[in-house]
Amino acid sequence: MIQLYIPLNFLGVIYREIKQALADMERLFGLLDQNREVADSPGAQPLATRGARVEFSHVEFSYEAKRQILFDVDFAIPAGTTTAVVGHSGSGKSTLSRLLFRFYDVNRGSISIDGQDIRSVTQASLRSAIGIVPQDTVLFNDTIEYNIAYGKPGSSKDDIVAAARAASIHDFIESLPDGYATMVGERGLKLSGGEKQRVAIARTLLKNPAILIFDEATSALDSKSEQAIQAQLKEIARNRTTLVIAHRLSTIADAQQIMVLDHGKIVERGTHGSLLAAQGLYAQMWERQQARPEEELASPPLALQS
Ligand code: ATP
Repeated sequence: MIQLYIPLNFLGVIYREIKQALADMERLFGLLDQNREVADSPGAQPLATRGARVEFSHVEFSYEAKRQILFDVDFAIPAGTTTAVVGHSGSGKSTLSRLLFRFYDVNRGSISIDGQDIRSVTQASLRSAIGIVPQDTVLFNDTIEYNIAYGKPGSSKDDIVAAARAASIHDFIESLPDGYATMVGERGLKLSGGEKQRVAIARTLLKNPAILIFDEATSALDSKSEQAIQAQLKEIARNRTTLVIAHRLSTIADAQQIMVLDHGKIVERGTHGSLLAAQGLYAQMWERQQARPEEELASPPLALQS
């Protein structure tokens, strides 16, 4: 009886851990309780990355049949470079990251990484190639160590500490009475927005993904934290293919490519300088943010003023 009980009990633990990990991932994307409609295709192969060039090819997408969200979205992020996407609230920016992570399949067109259609690779390999620093980091009701190790379950304590150091959160953790064993999350210690983002950065550093998605926080951090986090992100984005979903234009002025999304269409693209010179929507948003730096792009779409 005991012989049977132990393996079953062990399986139960593994099952709970897997279920928790899936739930955590979905919470990161705010997808809990929604249908999981994507499955590995028969014969799916692991993704093989070589620099990780990302390509959206004529992508059309709708969450619901009656309302199309993306229209003919066509762009590439060359391997190891940063592309930022800006646009008003609801224009479809976060949808791009959900599609790249394959939480949904596109209705038309395709998304590929190093030439491999993401529908033809295993989801596990796809998701391990992509690291996400989300807008609002979800902390699980567990220790801060677990929360960092979540980036790569099974990591050694040394690696966790190295990631925390690189994300400038190690000293803070050490200052807590229980150090890395401190319970955080809704039922534990509440961390500030900046501290939570540092945990997310540490997780991502541990995961060491070829592709990085950074969904900039809409609620501005204090400017010192903001600058420190921007500097760290630049560091982790170096040599990784990076998609930044930006709310403050000042943080992305040096991206190799900036795209402006408006009602699900790419309406402008270029560098900061070329977009300012074009005097279109981007230039207008820039002027507006220069005048009122605390303002984000969360307000309803501005019609192009003539
Ligand atoms: P924000 O800057 O406010 O984060 P966004 O540009 O990232 O906005 P998305 O989150 O991509 O916008 O959403 C684009 C559109 O898709 C919105 O109109 C939104 O209401 C809709 N949408 C998002 N998620 C879903 C969903 N799960 N089901 C149906 N519609 C959705």
